[in-house]
Amino acid sequence: MSIRLRLTLWYSAVLAVMLLALGGGIYALLVRSVNTNIDSQLSSTADQILSASRVRAFSNLLQVVVPEELDLFRAPDVGVVVIDGNSLAVVQKSQNVGLFSQAFDPAALKLINSTETLMRDVAIGDTRARILTVPIVVTTDQGDQPVGYLQLAAPLNGAEQSLRQLGSLMVLGGVIGVLAAAFVGAFLARKALEPIDRITQTASEIARGGDVQRRITKPGPPDEVGRLTETFNVMLDRLEGLFKSQQRFSADISHELRTPLTTIRGNVDLLRRMGGADKASLDAIGSETDRMIRLVGDLLLLAQADAGLPLRREPIAIDQLAGEVVRQVQVISGGVQVTLHSDLKEPLCIDGDPDRLRQLLLNLIDNAIKYTPSGNEVKVQVSRENGSARLTVSDTGPGIPPEHLQPGPNGVPLIFERFYRVEKSRTRLGPTNGNGRSGSGTGLGLSIAYWIVQAHGGRIEVRSESDHGTTFTVWLPVGEKKELTDS
Ligand code: ADP
Repeated sequence: MSIRLRLTLWYSAVLAVMLLALGGGIYALLVRSVNTNIDSQLSSTADQILSASRVRAFSNLLQVVVPEELDLFRAPDVGVVVIDGNSLAVVQKSQNVGLFSQAFDPAALKLINSTETLMRDVAIGDTRARILTVPIVVTTDQGDQPVGYLQLAAPLNGAEQSLRQLGSLMVLGGVIGVLAAAFVGAFLARKALEPIDRITQTASEIARGGDVQRRITKPGPPDEVGRLTETFNVMLDRLEGLFKSQQRFSADISHELRTPLTTIRGNVDLLRRMGGADKASLDAIGSETDRMIRLVGDLLLLAQADAGLPLRREPIAIDQLAGEVVRQVQVISGGVQVTLHSDLKEPLCIDGDPDRLRQLLLNLIDNAIKYTPSGNEVKVQVSRENGSARLTVSDTGPGIPPEHLQPGPNGVPLIFERFYRVEKSRTRLGPTNGNGRSGSGTGLGLSIAYWIVQAHGGRIEVRSESDHGTTFTVWLPVGEKKELTDS
């Protein structure tokens, strides 16, 4: 069942129940007030007759003498009969009763006792009437003696017919009202839900055709549906971005893997033609295979990062870890001096994953060495700053042009995007700064560094000046002091 139909049904059902309750209440009140009016008219007429009349009761004859000026027996809408208590025969009646000569409600005479009155609705022929039966009591020396009954009748047909007409009118009006409300409700619900139909249609077209560039036009006013449309469009923007970056990512991976594979293939062909092993070819195969192993390792790490790989958390003295990495890279720095500067009095402890933090430092220092001319210095500094450990890696290389430091589609400087390389505009193999290390990187090092910093709850910044070098600064939250593990 559609929402539109459900809304309309609910709306109509609630309206119908309300109209029924209201109409029923009004009708019941009216019936009550009509009955009360009739009852009080009958009671007051009976009171007047009895209080103003003289009652004569002989052995078998009862006579109620009504004063002339009261003339109640001639009242047009109330019929009156006087019934003898012994014979139960009508001994007197008002003019409007005509030829009718029986008690209006004979059954009441058996039900009533001498001290109370009785009010009943009775059918007399085809006329329905409300009958009041009042005992006539004469006070004698022996006490009150019941001598007969007064019965007063008020016809109900007129009032009942009016009430029936009013009831039918109310039912008809209610039905027409509910139908009209259902019709208008269905129309309004359709208008209100129209944008949702458009969203569904667009979503199913995208699902079928895969055109993620489609958007919902006419977002409408900023109400609930307008906001849904807006959100849906934003979600499509994001999906399109992800879709494109996925495509770019696959294309980059294919490209990155094809190059070393082509090199290996070429060298294998050469070896085959030469019929023996040639050192240069074997070196080329070896280095391209290393490059592929590095690339696949980096890709695996990023894939695990995307899947929410949990980090190990243990207390690490970051200054000691930096010292180890510096000592490790000094061996392979090819003429570039790598120095560690620290003014810490005691170990600076952070909660983190030692392997990932080592990788972070290696990526940054390795880049710095790559771009620093032989004989120059790469400075690594560790300090404490406002509850954070601050690490900087500075070099005196060519710097990074500012256009590569602009925020990219994800709001992060382009340089931290996956596969982003400045060298694509320079040369693919990157710098050769006379330090023996070529920049045949994959463009994944900085994106891995960015993820590691983020995963540790820290932040990374880059400052660079053309021909004056580059400084990467990392802030990592300082952990509680615990026993340090040997990293
Ligand atoms: P790669 O593996 O290619 O080095 P990275 O993600 O580590 O990839 O670096 C991305 C790009 O950032 C590199 O291609 C390089 O152009 C630039 N870059 C990184 N560090 C430096 C630096 N210290 N000096 C100059 N350019 C740098």
